[in-house]
Amino acid sequence: MNSDIRVRFAPSNTGHLHIGGARTALFNWFFARHHAGTAILRIEDTDRKRSTEKYYDAILEAFDWLGLEWDEGPYRQTQRMDLYQEAANKLLSSGAAYRCTCTPDEVNAMREKARAEGKTPKYDGTCRDRYDKDPNVPFCLRLRAPDAGETIVDDILAGEVVFENSQLDDMVIVRTDGTPTYNFCVAIDDIDMKITHVIRGNDHLSNTPKQVLVYKALEEPTPNFAHISMILGPDKKRLSKRHGADSVLEYKERGFLPEALINYLVRLGWSHGDQEVFSKEEIIANFSLENLNRSAAIFNPEKLLWLNQEYIKSADGDFLVESLDSGLKEQGLSPDLLTGKTRMGIVDELRTRSKTLTDMIEGARFFFENEVELDEKAAVKFLTPENSAIMLKLRDELTKIETFSTENVKLVFHRVMEEEAVKLGKLAQPVRVAITGGTTSPGIFETLSLLGKDRTIHRLDTALARINEK
Ligand code: GLU
Repeated sequence: MNSDIRVRFAPSNTGHLHIGGARTALFNWFFARHHAGTAILRIEDTDRKRSTEKYYDAILEAFDWLGLEWDEGPYRQTQRMDLYQEAANKLLSSGAAYRCTCTPDEVNAMREKARAEGKTPKYDGTCRDRYDKDPNVPFCLRLRAPDAGETIVDDILAGEVVFENSQLDDMVIVRTDGTPTYNFCVAIDDIDMKITHVIRGNDHLSNTPKQVLVYKALEEPTPNFAHISMILGPDKKRLSKRHGADSVLEYKERGFLPEALINYLVRLGWSHGDQEVFSKEEIIANFSLENLNRSAAIFNPEKLLWLNQEYIKSADGDFLVESLDSGLKEQGLSPDLLTGKTRMGIVDELRTRSKTLTDMIEGARFFFENEVELDEKAAVKFLTPENSAIMLKLRDELTKIETFSTENVKLVFHRVMEEEAVKLGKLAQPVRVAITGGTTSPGIFETLSLLGKDRTIHRLDTALARINEK
């Protein structure tokens, strides 16, 4: 690491890493890499009721799959309680924070009163300068907010955002039960971790002045802020489950390539000319916060699929074969039925016609099944008595081939077509149904040659027997 730039991604482990969070993480990560800075992962797990180990593990698994390595962390806030306590003590002794013994009912009454008077509902400062406090009465710690003036956040993306101090509350930094509050922990961590750029969703913009007050109270310089726009669904509503899969791991399950998801999410809000397909290295070389789009990005599942297909087209063959093998095994099928070379041939045929790895595995299934599962509609249409003679003729010719190559299969097809005066479609479709069970597959010659002679003949025989029976 050779620059002072330090950023953090700080998910709460109260749910899966969703794609909005992943995009924020990527912006942080690429910004750090572009500047040869430090990218930190910090898990905000102080909400003990909602944080779980399951989600902690799932977040790490998602980053593992995406291939994002963090330079520091995962830190966990629950393991940093001493730090928050220490900072609170410091603020207490400097007078920036004070003990408040008001009960929740009293605070509520203050808020109601302010509301009734048409003022901002907030704590009225009763305990700010009280020295008669009974040490046995439970207390929380509050940070004294300035009464006048403005707190200005000069955001790289949102521009200058002005908050009237008179609207800011004396926020609780440590609760009566001794636990530190969310905004306090975030600010203390960002100070302690020497974060130079806080890059996060603009849903956090309203927290920023509260955190800035903590920096000021501790006389620490504030970091740069970049609040990024949200992702919206195609209906312009905030992206949610309704718009399809939303956790990163769901995309893994659905057969997306991590590189494609990364490319899509980064490009969703960041651009470099008209370029759509970027390698990680290219993003690192060109990334800048200034080029982030200020308006909300619209999630487009079709474009993500298109991009995924682009990545599958150019994916490493060994990777595709491995994906195929594990997908088949999950379905109880044995990849070893065909040689590694044949499986490579299969993925090469399928890579141009698969939007996801799941599509690819689905498209390859028939190669590995003992008996094809016939699509009944296709069978009724094509496995007919009128097609059986030509199929039988082809079958007999195929048995004569010694080397069952694509080229030789093709020669046999052409000979039969010529002798019977039929077009390719007329012959290929019934054969395709017999061999694959359905009406779509890679080229018929390639398909037969990859399947091999014995299994091709066996499937044609099975189909012919079915026609005879009917
Ligand atoms: N933990 C917060 C979240 O999950 C992020 C806080 C931050 O980035 O400051 O949204």
